[in-house]
Amino acid sequence: MEYSIGVDLGGTDIKAGLVSSMGDISCRVVLPTDVDVGGPKVVAARIAEAVRQVLVKAISHQKERDQQSGLTADRRPPTAIKNEIWIGLGAPGLIIAETGVVHFSPNFPGWTDIPLVDYVNAELAKLHLPKSTANDNSQTHNIDPQVSSVGLHTDYKLILKGMDNDVNAMTLGELRHGAGVGYKNVVAFTLGTGVGGGVVIDGRVYHGSQNTAGELGHTVVEPDGRYCGCGNQGCLEAYAGAKNIVERTQEKVQTGRSTVLAKAIKSGQTLTPRQIAEAAHAGDKVAREIFAETGRYIGIALTSIAHILNPQLAIIGGGIAEAGETLLFEPIRTELAKRAMDIPARMKIVKAYLGNDAGIVGAAMLALESEPTL
Ligand SMILES: [Zn+2]
Repeated sequence: MEYSIGVDLGGTDIKAGLVSSMGDISCRVVLPTDVDVGGPKVVAARIAEAVRQVLVKAISHQKERDQQSGLTADRRPPTAIKNEIWIGLGAPGLIIAETGVVHFSPNFPGWTDIPLVDYVNAELAKLHLPKSTANDNSQTHNIDPQVSSVGLHTDYKLILKGMDNDVNAMTLGELRHGAGVGYKNVVAFTLGTGVGGGVVIDGRVYHGSQNTAGELGHTVVEPDGRYCGCGNQGCLEAYAGAKNIVERTQEKVQTGRSTVLAKAIKSGQTLTPRQIAEAAHAGDKVAREIFAETGRYIGIALTSIAHILNPQLAIIGGGIAEAGETLLFEPIRTELAKRAMDIPARMKIVKAYLGNDAGIVGAAMLALESEPTL
């Protein structure tokens, strides 16, 4: 069994963990991204710090295991952590996977063509002290004393091997260790603040000619419909993104419809999709309509996708997917069955399996599956 470290970079938090080739996560770390503190190099340093903390935990766990089993370092089984550890990174925005560059990211204003993989590797290199210098005073190398105490100064070499868009990383995570295991042609949606997408063709995440493939949230479902953040009208995201689900609910309430949610809105409370889902589960008509419409729009988008790509499976994750089978998945399936041709309509539609872990697992798989050249 091999291990790699997966890092899920978000606008607020950096989540990282040690991931086995079986997809199990241990030694988790969450650090603030600190994007307001400094530019990309500061974020790169935070990523390296998250990786370092994962390694510190991993080494400490390994030492405990060695002590319990009476092993010495040179007699460890091959499942132990190796001296060279590969890392994968999922980052939001338009990511040029081949070159390790963030072309643009809505979460990081002002970032244009940032060579983030190089920046992170420069930070990680500072943590690496070959055995020959192991007896140096660790202070001169700016290494936290805690690290020295667990042996990082011996010979651990950390290398960021691959970066991809965060939704592509999640898609890879679900494909290898989640709802997509055993499938080769898959599409994935993440229904959160926005609607992210990933496309898998013949077992590999498809990037398109310029790394922008998989923007399933910007499939047009209503030609003259609601405005989307991308500037277009009628994108799926303008209906199925969390903000838009709340806005659509408020609009229905403003027309005078009777709903348990009216009281919350009138008192100035900002609704959440979860509240709307709870009201729908309790039988509230307006809330049920909102989810039926959301499912219908996803089904319309999936119809186009089914005809273009003929995937075997659609995986739907993110907070909104928690609304569940009756409220969300059934309307999606009904709409697809109604609209799609016989064979593409056979696509299975399932909920994502890994939840918030998909990003870390997928990022770690990026490292394990990376081409050796990056
Ligand atoms: Zn759009």
